[in-house]
Amino acid sequence: MNYETKQEVLAALSMPWAAFSTDVLPAAKEVHRAQNGDRLTVTAMLGYSNVCKNQCLYCGMRAANNAVPRYRIEPDEVLASVRAAREAGFTRLFLISGEDPKYDFEKLLRMVEGAKKLGIAHISLACGEFERSQYEELRAAGADEYVIKFEMSHKDTFDRLNPSTNFEKRMAAISHVKESGMELASGNIVDYPGQTLDELADDILLMRKLEISWAPIVPYLPAQNTPLAAEGGPGRQEMILREIALTRLMLPQVNITGGQPGKNLADGFSSVDGTQAALAAGANLLFADLLPAARAQAFRVVDNRTLLGLDHIHRMAEMSGMSLCL
Ligand code: SF4
Repeated sequence: MNYETKQEVLAALSMPWAAFSTDVLPAAKEVHRAQNGDRLTVTAMLGYSNVCKNQCLYCGMRAANNAVPRYRIEPDEVLASVRAAREAGFTRLFLISGEDPKYDFEKLLRMVEGAKKLGIAHISLACGEFERSQYEELRAAGADEYVIKFEMSHKDTFDRLNPSTNFEKRMAAISHVKESGMELASGNIVDYPGQTLDELADDILLMRKLEISWAPIVPYLPAQNTPLAAEGGPGRQEMILREIALTRLMLPQVNITGGQPGKNLADGFSSVDGTQAALAAGANLLFADLLPAARAQAFRVVDNRTLLGLDHIHRMAEMSGMSLCL
């Protein structure tokens, strides 16, 4: 099976689910086994600010959502959590925030430098659109990877769902991340209301074109108090599994987010059955929360955010038979 052209990707996205699950899912898992030693990579995650100035129509943390209790965490407190993560054995860190212009950029640089001094080997950041020079400063401070999702590859759809920015600005930011020397993590939202298979195929092909390091792909889940929630229900698990498997087959070396929802959304954004299904489709990256529960639950781009610690990660590794890589 080849997945080089848009026609081939479209054919895989639209083939009967029974055939996809018996032919394509195991092939994707085999690629991860053969090429990456079936490693389950784990990253410690900390959302240091859930303040966001933007109004993305699908996001629970959008500025207009007054139901979210907002917080900012100072660098010293972040670094105390990072120290605890190092002591627990983590070597990878993911620092994330809303697009919060009032969180001083110098503080962000201080966090990155401090985490490197504490022995974190790989730092990923996701803090929104910055100037090119700022990405360069983050790289110089020690950041290894920057997550800036294109969300949807069709300009008109992007511009409608992301009214605080536009497609040109987002793609320019993506270029600037690459030019800074950081690895680029980027991907899409899967199966949001109105998304066509044509758009989904273009999203997958754009990830390949951008030569990403990590595909932070998630299914669409309606969040309370968001405009898009009025337009339709959640993305189908089947569609996220199709995208995970095709991404693994087309981009064998990249990290792919494995914490995914299952059939019952009440079990949370990253449920046991959803995660196991994603890992069996070729996904490989899980997160452990460093925040206290109340704050972690307030960092909610989607509803039903569950708090996951290292014991959960060990359970996922045991159930999937993958080799854990902290
Ligand atoms: S998706 Fe990101 S930029 Fe958009 S509203 Fe949510 S936190 Fe802000």
